[in-house]
Amino acid sequence: MTATRVLVLNSGSSSVKYQLLDMSDSSRLAVGLVERIGEETSRLKHTPLSTGETRETTGPIADHEAALKAVAEELAKDGLGLDSPELAAIGHRVVHGGKTFTQPTVIDDAVLAEIERLIPVAPLHNPANLTGIRTAQALRPDLPQVAVFDTAFHTTMPEAAARYAIDVKTADEYRIRRYGFHGTSHAYVSRATAELLGKSPEEVNVIVLHLGNGASASAVEKGRCVDTSMGLTPLEGLVMGTRSGDMDPAVIFHLMRVGGMSTDEIDTLLNKKSGLIGLCGDNDMREIRRRIDEGAEDAAQAQLAFDIYIHRLKKYIGAYYAVLGTVDAVAFTAGVGENAAPVREAAIAGLEALGLAVDGELNAVRSGEPRLISPEGARVAVAVVPTDEELEIADQTYALVRNGNA
Ligand code: ADP
Repeated sequence: MTATRVLVLNSGSSSVKYQLLDMSDSSRLAVGLVERIGEETSRLKHTPLSTGETRETTGPIADHEAALKAVAEELAKDGLGLDSPELAAIGHRVVHGGKTFTQPTVIDDAVLAEIERLIPVAPLHNPANLTGIRTAQALRPDLPQVAVFDTAFHTTMPEAAARYAIDVKTADEYRIRRYGFHGTSHAYVSRATAELLGKSPEEVNVIVLHLGNGASASAVEKGRCVDTSMGLTPLEGLVMGTRSGDMDPAVIFHLMRVGGMSTDEIDTLLNKKSGLIGLCGDNDMREIRRRIDEGAEDAAQAQLAFDIYIHRLKKYIGAYYAVLGTVDAVAFTAGVGENAAPVREAAIAGLEALGLAVDGELNAVRSGEPRLISPEGARVAVAVVPTDEELEIADQTYALVRNGNA
């Protein structure tokens, strides 16, 4: 029997998201998540695609090991157990691969050590990713485990884009540079956009706008990333659900000196209490649009948050247009990019001189398929391209183990 199944694991500090895919036809067999690991009210939600019926259990799940065991038990109930010979590999989303990991990588002790060495640049994410890997290894020590890095797609950025203009020795000593994140999504969406245009990725230049709760833009030249908006950490760049994005770094000194705030307080302020939620109290674009569209009492505040969000987005579209020189497509993706027509309309408005326009009717269509929203014959395509990070991780994982490199 050929093993064609891949389990994709995305381990956060208190959650594990997972999907089991069959790579013979890229179909999903099961999806689910465990939340609030380590609390009394942990919750496991599991959906086998054969029935589509979600099973939900609540109760204490002490740690990642217990979480993964609970997931394995749920999968076994559907005949999809992790002991199945049909399971080819486990693919792990790993947030930070630094400069080292430019490709998906089969995990061995040296790889684990390197992911660990990168913890200082990803203190929130890499430890959780490592826990997920070690737990999965304990469960199936014989199975190849592959790390797919959020940063890998961006490692092609030229030094001119990747370096900050600070003292080189200091930057190198502390590994300070722009790494970028959401790389799996930018890779998938830029390729899918080329496909939508009937071209190969090497034939097109694409600006990808990944607008979820976290948000980032990338400039992709002939299939290679040449710039992206997130930096050393995911804080830089666009206005996000709860992150400020770009800001004069001196704001931090000011908050320390004049505001008497601690490093941790400022970290929390900029990562968790800024962006849309800081500006108007909501980080969900649906709620912000509702307040604006219904003329709610506090609509002006929501409108200002929306305007700041769009202004930043537009600046990045312009910047990446200049970085690329010629642009074949601008692609919107992730929760906001795929669903919020007003955001797409406002971000592209006024850019006709750059060959960019959105057709109102096409933009209003709701669909889960990649589609064009620019008027027919437009010089630059504007597209909505749903992202699929799990499929991309499964694809990359399977490609690696199928070719016998594991
Ligand atoms: P992440 O993976 O970063 O958590 P997603 O890509 O799932 O985020 O996007 C989540 C965000 O998408 C929500 O916070 C919400 O703002 C936005 N969103 C989802 N559906 C809609 C919709 N129909 N209209 C506008 N925004 C939406």
